[in-house]
Amino acid sequence: MLTPLPNPRLIEPRLAPRFHALLHLHPFPDDEPRTDERAEALMADAVQWQASDIHIEPGSQETRLRMRVYGLIYDVAAVPNDAGLHLASFFKTLSGIDATALSQPEHGYGSMEAAGTRLELRTTAAPTPVGEMVGVRIVDTGRAVLKLDDLGIPEADQSRLRTWPDGMQGLLLVCGPVSSGKTTTLYALLHQLQTLPRSIVTVEDPVERHLDGITQIEVNPKRGLTFPEAVRAMLRLDPDFLLVGEIRDPGSAHVAVTAAGSGLAVMSTIHARDAVGAVTTLRNNGVKNWEISNALEMCLSQRLVRCLCRQCRIKAAPTDEERQWFSGAGLSPPESLCHPKGCDACAGTGFDGQIGLFEFWQVDDAARKLILQGADHLALHEHALDHGLSPLSHDAMEKVRAGLVSLAEVRALGGIARPPGTASR
Ligand SMILES: [Zn+2]
Repeated sequence: MLTPLPNPRLIEPRLAPRFHALLHLHPFPDDEPRTDERAEALMADAVQWQASDIHIEPGSQETRLRMRVYGLIYDVAAVPNDAGLHLASFFKTLSGIDATALSQPEHGYGSMEAAGTRLELRTTAAPTPVGEMVGVRIVDTGRAVLKLDDLGIPEADQSRLRTWPDGMQGLLLVCGPVSSGKTTTLYALLHQLQTLPRSIVTVEDPVERHLDGITQIEVNPKRGLTFPEAVRAMLRLDPDFLLVGEIRDPGSAHVAVTAAGSGLAVMSTIHARDAVGAVTTLRNNGVKNWEISNALEMCLSQRLVRCLCRQCRIKAAPTDEERQWFSGAGLSPPESLCHPKGCDACAGTGFDGQIGLFEFWQVDDAARKLILQGADHLALHEHALDHGLSPLSHDAMEKVRAGLVSLAEVRALGGIARPPGTASR
């Protein structure tokens, strides 16, 4: 049922207009080293299109410059290998990585200004048989932290989510795979908490954004400061709210669940395929059923998809097969469906921005009992569906129907929308 997006290798030079303008002015080979200028132009292009990463990938013939925009990788330019090497060295040096050839992958941090905005960079350099591949993760510190209203969370779930700080205890988990926007959601929650006269501390790896009025620390396993160590230190500050960046191993799972079980309000992210799946992941990390039952309050599961460009999206009547996807989700099909096209406003990609798809689970007393009894994922999911959980597939199809998202995009996620012909709930 998985429909791949068209053309896995996307080539879009329009995503790097400043970089190409510079190449036009000073074509290769040139005698003058222009690496700084080129790096700044490339970063300014990345800022314009809200790229999350830049990759410099050497090949046998040339070096490809690539950008990750709204989750997808696009080739934006190809340059001679020596020019690619200079760019790679520029970002390595800027991030505190030895500019000479490496024998093993290395990571580093740095910052630079481009397009009038300050960028925090997290650079990874890895040796490959054809040269060093360099990946630069970009955090645009000038971009405003999103609010809960901005994320696309359905209104009913949003208002239930807003009640969490009132109770001021228990564990709130944001679930999803890598790059599903979990941290953005946590920061939106922090943004909401910032206005309260409460003490808020975070333990992150790394601190993604600095927020006024919130005490944030970064774990540093190389120096022995792991999530458990850092959380224990922060608990001495007697906070009202604690954010643990990620539950990723038994140590972080335990410390988050124990803090929440002792009456603190704790929020974190966790890898789980759906909201109820958070219980399975906690169990897999050695947390006991009674501890989960005691601590867990709310789970928000999410995925990130690209929004259709409003300037160029095209409408077409749904096919019979497309109609079945709506009936499969228990929805009536719309008269027309929107599809991507591509225009100058979206650099030909057909997309502009991203939006979350959500599923919200509030753990009620009956669910606590089921967790305590060791109920499996299926039993917990059935219970949640019978007690108000609206599945992520439903939110996805609502957003397709509203013309915000294409059906192909939702289907490409795989495993979240109901295939045609299955019963709706
Ligand atoms: Zn467009």
